[in-house]
Amino acid sequence: MTALLLGALGLTLSLIVPGPLARAHWPDRAPAAAVLLWQAITLAAVLSALGVVLAAPEELTRALGSGKPVAAAALIGALAVAAVIVLRLLVSLWGVSRRSRARRARHRLLVDLLDRAEQRQELDAGHVRVLQGNLPLAYCVPGREARVVLSDGALRLLDREQVDAVLAHEQTHLRHRHEVVMESFTAFYRAVPAALRSRAPLDAVHLLLEMVADDAASKRTGPAPLRGALERLTDAVPLAEEVMPEEDSRRRRTARLAAPQRPSRMLTGAVVAAAVALLVLPTVILVVPWLGQALAVWPL
Ligand SMILES: [Zn+2]
Repeated sequence: MTALLLGALGLTLSLIVPGPLARAHWPDRAPAAAVLLWQAITLAAVLSALGVVLAAPEELTRALGSGKPVAAAALIGALAVAAVIVLRLLVSLWGVSRRSRARRARHRLLVDLLDRAEQRQELDAGHVRVLQGNLPLAYCVPGREARVVLSDGALRLLDREQVDAVLAHEQTHLRHRHEVVMESFTAFYRAVPAALRSRAPLDAVHLLLEMVADDAASKRTGPAPLRGALERLTDAVPLAEEVMPEEDSRRRRTARLAAPQRPSRMLTGAVVAAAVALLVLPTVILVVPWLGQALAVWPL
């Protein structure tokens, strides 16, 4: 029974929940907590899959009335499969982070080379680089030696307050290491078989991180300059390789900045509690009783 319930939970979390949650608008009022909820959902789905792999063979051998040696062999086989799943996730995470680091290092080198230092004198921020071009660009290159990149097209279009708002937005991405969050979701997406995964978490988390950075920038400059900048800028380089910038997400951010709502403490608390419950409850209700039975057949 444990395997069936965990399987149902895992499928619900990876295929049924993401769509409606990504479309919902209430997370806009507690974006940081909502990112935590997405992380809990993803982690709970992984733990459920591991739970199925571990519990199914043991439960099956018990139901068939097989002897202790068969049950023990089934358990060892299950542990091996579970180890392969964990390894696959870790390898995917390592690969995504290695490729991103290399890409960013190349990108940093390039923007340092192409930098038009004379254009940014008044910005007095050492890690800002200005590129020539009419396309109004603003983005960050995360990493140990992070850069914020603006095009001179953007500097021509935006007033000083809007430039400050954009810099505050990009610096929040860098300070909070948003790229690491995106990398973990990308790695998970790539490691999961196509039939069992959904793109919704990637796009939703990307949008929520934009909102977190918008909120931090709004605190510094007020929402109006950032909204003005968003309407003029081309967000050409998204934070993660899998995510494409979308008109829809920009509209949602602009609308949110146009009618700022107070952050809801109650909503934030409820979302964080849901995230914790998602990780703790299945473990306590399903896994702990199963562990007791499984340990009884353990050969040692
Ligand atoms: Zn951003």
